[in-house]
Amino acid sequence: MITVEQALEIIVNSVQRTSRREEIPLAQAPGAVLGRDALADTDSPPFHRATMDGYAVIHTDGPGDYEVVEDIPAGYFPRTRLVPGKVSKIMTGAPLPEGADAVVPVEQTGGFVDLGQLAMIKGESRPGKNIAPRGEDMKVGDVALPAGTLIRPAEVAVLASVGCDPCHVYSRPTLAALATGDELIPPDQKPAPGQIRNSNGPSIIALAAEMGLACRSLGPAGDNPAALEENIRRGMDNDFLIISGGVSAGDRDLVPDILKKVGYKTLFHKVSVKPGKPTLFGMSASGRFVFGLPGNPVSSMVIFELFVRPALCRFMGAPYDAMEVAARMTSGFHRINAEREEYLPARLEWNGDRFSAGLVEYHGSGHFRALTRANGLVIIPAGVKKTPEGSQVRARFLGNIIMPAP
Ligand code: AMP
Ligand code: MG
Repeated sequence: MITVEQALEIIVNSVQRTSRREEIPLAQAPGAVLGRDALADTDSPPFHRATMDGYAVIHTDGPGDYEVVEDIPAGYFPRTRLVPGKVSKIMTGAPLPEGADAVVPVEQTGGFVDLGQLAMIKGESRPGKNIAPRGEDMKVGDVALPAGTLIRPAEVAVLASVGCDPCHVYSRPTLAALATGDELIPPDQKPAPGQIRNSNGPSIIALAAEMGLACRSLGPAGDNPAALEENIRRGMDNDFLIISGGVSAGDRDLVPDILKKVGYKTLFHKVSVKPGKPTLFGMSASGRFVFGLPGNPVSSMVIFELFVRPALCRFMGAPYDAMEVAARMTSGFHRINAEREEYLPARLEWNGDRFSAGLVEYHGSGHFRALTRANGLVIIPAGVKKTPEGSQVRARFLGNIIMPAP
């Protein structure tokens, strides 16, 4: 059986960045990846900008009483050139008048006075003080953000400032989630004996949404082979079809055979990981991917974290890093069978100098409420049976942890 690392390698080698690109409104861009360099169409700042409220001065004038010749709020462009012995009132964000070379903050003066009155300048200054020079951050034509940058709120601000709206991005993958199992009913129905509500479909959709991705729901679908095949075929035109359930060794686990039949090549099936051993990953001749996640809800969410998230990032060309941390166990963990690498729901907390990892109450991969108390996963390597309290472990956070471009 392949390891988590080997499975990831197969994913990374199979999924390439999409070549599809499109223009979308900037408001919809968070989570997408920039499709071409965003160029600065103006200098930034576009003029010598005051960074404090105060008086624009000629620094060689020094302290003294000077006539106020202009009032310059933000949004107004100054008309009066400063000459020695004069000052202009200026507000944060406003353009510096010609002739001035510094701003004295109002706190270092006798306060604001009206136009034509004398302002008392107390503070000494020096050239460039309290001024952000024109083009300090970017000059016209500079690459504000390179193609390939994942768009987060900080990138949205830069894109807005250079007028990238609409914005040219790599298309996000199309996704569909198909929950399988004869026992499943939709969440808004009351289960009859033997039935359970479909929780994997909604959680997969929520995980995708957290990444800024829309995921169509195709299920739940029963285990009847004909119906299952039809549902899988309905999902095949998506870049990623994410199926939950029906991939293990039960006599109703028909997904692997049907996937082969409809044209997906199996790239791996079964990984040495707990939970999530039956996980399947495949690819169709037209370059579309399928994940078969085990039906147990913890397995399906953990496997999304381990494999689906990096695959989706790879497709979009977004940087991905699991961002593992070292953490100190607040309690011990023992296991008898140490064959597989194991992921345990945990509460990771910063203790001033290191992370601590508190395992939350967890009865196994069907116990999905355990994940609501966890913000991370502790990783127990294959071969390790005893993890004493106080020992250092590898851990990773759950959720959308983003690695900015280098
Ligand atoms: P399977 O992988 O199909 O053998 O399912 C394993 C376990 O997960 C069974 O107990 C299922 O009832 C449960 N399960 C499967 N699919 C879902 C789902 N969509 N939501 C909640 N539980 C599920
Ligand atoms: Mg099933």
